[in-house]
Amino acid sequence: MLEIFYHPIYTSGISKSSSFPRDRYQLIFDSILKSNQDKNIVFKTPKKINLKHLYRVHQKKYVDQFLDGTLPESQQRKIGLRPWTSKIIERTLFIMGGSVNAVMSSLENGASANLAGGTHHAYYDYGSGYCVFNDLVISAYYCKEKFKRYQNILILDLDVHQGDGTASMVKTDKSIFTFSMHCETNFPLKKQISDLDVPLKKGMKDKTYLRILGSSLEKLEDNDTDIIFFQAGVDGLVHDTLGHLELSHNGMIKRNEMVLNFCKKQGCPIVIFMGGGYSKPISQTVKAFSKLFFQFSNF
Ligand SMILES: [Zn+2]
Repeated sequence: MLEIFYHPIYTSGISKSSSFPRDRYQLIFDSILKSNQDKNIVFKTPKKINLKHLYRVHQKKYVDQFLDGTLPESQQRKIGLRPWTSKIIERTLFIMGGSVNAVMSSLENGASANLAGGTHHAYYDYGSGYCVFNDLVISAYYCKEKFKRYQNILILDLDVHQGDGTASMVKTDKSIFTFSMHCETNFPLKKQISDLDVPLKKGMKDKTYLRILGSSLEKLEDNDTDIIFFQAGVDGLVHDTLGHLELSHNGMIKRNEMVLNFCKKQGCPIVIFMGGGYSKPISQTVKAFSKLFFQFSNF
């Protein structure tokens, strides 16, 4: 059984005229409902995050400006998701809430997911690349503060873009291990240093990708890991408009299987953060994410 946190504001909180594929959340939700005959997936409504978790990891001025609606236009532009609407504030609070709710659920059920989030481009004092606040880092400190047994966190970031914000925010914290496997020519232009970075050549296909993933996961086996946060972006698909890799759906399924087996071997709970997916047509992104969630529903 997999609990997935989802709220309609994940879609409706972004302007209809935004170039961001906002419909993906609603479409993935609909697609899962349609195929969920065994009721292995249970949707839960997230609670808005308690603001103290935002202030714990982000600069007060930045959080305040975002919440007051006074974020300078240059900062809004860096985030994207434009044209900006005031609903984005509530949307962000629900998405951040969904992520910490999923942490709690994974400790009870072994695995859990947020049908959004994985906002790995957000830095301490600014957002970027569709990311306002960094829910991976917020969830890591939420977990560390609330649960004594879960102090060592592995952030497994397989989005096609580097987890630059995450790497930058936790670089001095040895209890949070950041792993990012991403295409070297993709955004962000200036990469940060994760605990383990695996940059991949543009145009890489399934076979090489899966071989490199396998040997990279092996390197992580001896780490002290209590819980795994999986940034499961599917923008490595060949259909993706923002990714430079050429993975097939089958390759993506095998990728997820490898992560699933790795978690089982480590005996760790896993939290799935959705991450990027910008395929055209959008149905390719919906298909890949729906499959991902069903794969983890038997965890
Ligand atoms: Zn991405």
